[in-house]
Amino acid sequence: MIPYGKHHIDQQDIDAVVDVLSNQFITQGKQVPAFENALCNYTGADFAVAVNSGTSGLHIACLSVGLGSGDILWTSPISFVASANCALYCGAEVDFVDIDPLTRNICPEHLSVKLAQAVKKNRLPKALVVVHFTGVSCDMLPIRQLAQKYRIVLIEDAAHALGANYAGNKVGCCQYSDMTVMSFHPVKSITTAEGGAVLTNDAKIAANLRQFASHGVTRNQELMQSKPEGPWYYEQLQLGYNYRLSDLHAALGISQLAKISDLVASRQSIACNYLTAFSHLPVKLPQMSNVEDSAWHIFVIELIEHDRLVVFNRLRQLDIGVNVHYFPIHLQPYYQNLGFRAGDFPNAEAFYKKAITLPLFPFMSADEQHRVVQALIEVLN
Ligand SMILES: *Cc1c(COP(=O)(O)O)cnc(C)c1O
Repeated sequence: MIPYGKHHIDQQDIDAVVDVLSNQFITQGKQVPAFENALCNYTGADFAVAVNSGTSGLHIACLSVGLGSGDILWTSPISFVASANCALYCGAEVDFVDIDPLTRNICPEHLSVKLAQAVKKNRLPKALVVVHFTGVSCDMLPIRQLAQKYRIVLIEDAAHALGANYAGNKVGCCQYSDMTVMSFHPVKSITTAEGGAVLTNDAKIAANLRQFASHGVTRNQELMQSKPEGPWYYEQLQLGYNYRLSDLHAALGISQLAKISDLVASRQSIACNYLTAFSHLPVKLPQMSNVEDSAWHIFVIELIEHDRLVVFNRLRQLDIGVNVHYFPIHLQPYYQNLGFRAGDFPNAEAFYKKAITLPLFPFMSADEQHRVVQALIEVLN
């Protein structure tokens, strides 16, 4: 079976991790700050806080701006559940903004209308998590303007989008947001096995993120409430967690990030092959103004006339490891119990019914690409 996604680990990556094993520190050593610096250099953000998963990153992003009980967070229904769960971890409520059927990202017009309604009901969200679905950036400029108008914290869930560009900059630079969260799960642009990071240009948010990722504890004298009683002294100022990334994981991250251009370029060239090969098939292909702006985390087609389950099963029978991204979050049983209903976000639901994710991962062989192309043509004919 050709998988829908897969990591690419080479000998350099292996050596980088093995090297750290004989260091004095295998966690809280030098690899983590070095990885954070590399992330800042690559994205252009001022601060990076590495954590043990993208989900932890979303959680501390919410904590760092004081999201809590009585607050509301909005996000996209077409995402991984973590984009919404982060609000519930903090005791806040979740609501969703429907997608634009063309970009499949949060629709700035829907957002504008929903905000105008929310202000009347005194139900404005405190934070908005936008998701760069499949690796295509949301249209951040109008979203930023709305966030500023209504004083909403803007968080980018860029788990799909390390390596993508928006308006001439790397996603992660935080030019139009307060924070950007990355994931380094093996199917993402680069991997640390498990891992993530939060990027920001705000020094206060960065300090807060760092505290929440490590028990709410600080060793920085300037942040302490009392005079240190000795060199051993630290203070717990907030209720934090242990969300730290280890030096083993960070070393892998440094090695992977050094090759991100090749990894993303490979994804882009496979995507271009698919776009050409499928241009005459009865499917809706991913749309974007510039193919090179997407990180091509996944290649999602929408069927126009065929039944999704039939096509999906036939492709799996042909050993094509298709998948579906995503079952809308508001239709998950847990969210149904919170009061969401089918029909709440019609564009998201219509998209889901037709969507299939085709295999796409770095350095997928020409033969593997050919098998995917031939299988889809055969099944749709
Ligand atoms: C992968 C992913 C996450 C969670 O990242 P983990 O590192 O697996 O915790 C969050 N949001 C989106 C959109 C993702 O794809």
